[in-house]
Amino acid sequence: MPQAPQKQQTMTDQTATTPATKDMKEIVALCKRRGFVFPASDIYGGLNGFWDFGPLGVELKNNLRDLWWKAMVTTPPLGPDGAPVEIVGVDSAIIQNPKAWVASGHVGGFSDPMVDDRETKLRYRADHLNYFFLRPLDGGIIKINGKPAKALAFVEGTSNQDIEKRLKKLGINLKFLSQDGKLPDLMFSSAEDIPLSEIVGPDASEPGTLTEPKQFNLMFHTFVGATAGDDNKAYLRPETAQGIFLNFKNVVDSSRVRVPFGIAQIGKAFRNEVTPRNFIFRSREFEQMEMEWFCHPNEAKMWRDFWFAERVKFWKAIGLSDDSLQLRDHDRDELSHYAKEGYGTADIEYKFPFTAPGFGELEGIAHRCDFDLKQHQEHSGTKLEYMDPVTNERFIPHVIEPAAGLTRGVLALLCEAYTPDAARPSGVYLNFHPSVAPKKAAILPLTAKDQHPVIATKLYMELREQYNVDLDIKQNIGKRYARQDEIGTPFCFTIDDQTSADQTLTVRHRNTMKQDRIGLDHVADYMRKNMLLATGRA
Ligand code: ATP
Repeated sequence: MPQAPQKQQTMTDQTATTPATKDMKEIVALCKRRGFVFPASDIYGGLNGFWDFGPLGVELKNNLRDLWWKAMVTTPPLGPDGAPVEIVGVDSAIIQNPKAWVASGHVGGFSDPMVDDRETKLRYRADHLNYFFLRPLDGGIIKINGKPAKALAFVEGTSNQDIEKRLKKLGINLKFLSQDGKLPDLMFSSAEDIPLSEIVGPDASEPGTLTEPKQFNLMFHTFVGATAGDDNKAYLRPETAQGIFLNFKNVVDSSRVRVPFGIAQIGKAFRNEVTPRNFIFRSREFEQMEMEWFCHPNEAKMWRDFWFAERVKFWKAIGLSDDSLQLRDHDRDELSHYAKEGYGTADIEYKFPFTAPGFGELEGIAHRCDFDLKQHQEHSGTKLEYMDPVTNERFIPHVIEPAAGLTRGVLALLCEAYTPDAARPSGVYLNFHPSVAPKKAAILPLTAKDQHPVIATKLYMELREQYNVDLDIKQNIGKRYARQDEIGTPFCFTIDDQTSADQTLTVRHRNTMKQDRIGLDHVADYMRKNMLLATGRA
């Protein structure tokens, strides 16, 4: 049987199979061209699943990070009683005592790349699956139950006879696939080019029921100290959440928090994903923004609903459109063991170009019950109960966890902002909400002579104290506008001859390209007003 060459999945593979209103290939190209995101180790040909953020990408990512921290820790929302809820931050180590990952279930939990079949509930080792490609002689597409089917998955070692039987059972006539009535030689070890929605599981009756492979030990490991043995094996954290649970007692003992309260953390997480794909959507090194909300078990449902609403509000406030966002309750069979006992999990999903018209997870909000604290209490031998100082009741708090991807959030912001526009020289602009735009304004002297650069530099020196602004002196003005459009700068201030004469300049709006004339000494005010309006805090 031929083996498919091992091949990295590229964006082109994805966009070729899913119709998209925004072209992912173009977005990836713009990200590289303008310095948002580069492949990691680019000059060495990259490393699958790893990405670097460039000068503008790091600003965009930091803006999202800071807005999340503000929304959670600095100015958290008002609770049901009208008072701000209480959330404090931590920044825990990436490498923790490996026992913590035993307790959390990460060491024992996933020890092979597994795929599940949602229909039959059977589970397979992903690396034990082979794929028989359905390639009709007439170039058409085979449908099963009205759904396109491009490959059948088989457990390694399945005989040709069994493949033929299965084709028959699924109603696929061999004569569609081969001229001589013999089974064609179309078994491959991988089907990376075929979306899961078009693959039929080994025992399924229709395509699209296999899940993405869930990594075995998805944790990257390393060794602490000079020797490399099992005794000093340690793991890079696969999520930031556990660092919060490990510090629950420290935070309660050292600060004045009282249940209900939250602990938030932003930081790197590492997962040795089987199939990193879709640009920075699924990578092997990424950042998370997680908050564990500790509450009384009786109030868990109320707080779960509270955080569902607050988190959707957050993404909308920073520019994701209503149409592109949805809150989806997990089906019962998707729930993790702890969630099954509680009030379930919902995902906030975004309509990424490669999932459209479907949606992909942006943030998960789970009721984790008392699973984590109980596990850590048992494994560490340290009591992790909370005592209510008013009622003296002792209990292990339940947890509601809004867990968002920072890197994935950046991708959603980029996809949302990307706006093709044939009417402008750049052909495209990034319609960033001003609160996330990497550059809030550009200051552009019309020419590099006369007083233009002098006035521009003075204005730049004033504005940069408060905003991340660009001073761009060279090139013709059209090219400079085009560049600012492509990086999503909301305002351009242009200094011209009239500025020296009457102390006014033009302000150009990114989305409309409309230009107004305002006084030079009103620029700071203008920025303040527009930035405030833009963040909804005017
Ligand atoms: P998925 O189902 O996409 O694998 P998950 O449900 O395992 O994600 P969580 O463990 O809930 O994800 O992590 C919280 C958030 O972290 C996700 O909603 C996502 O935004 C982000 N995230 C998870 N895995 C990755 C990854 N490999 N690359 C980038 N972001 C990720």
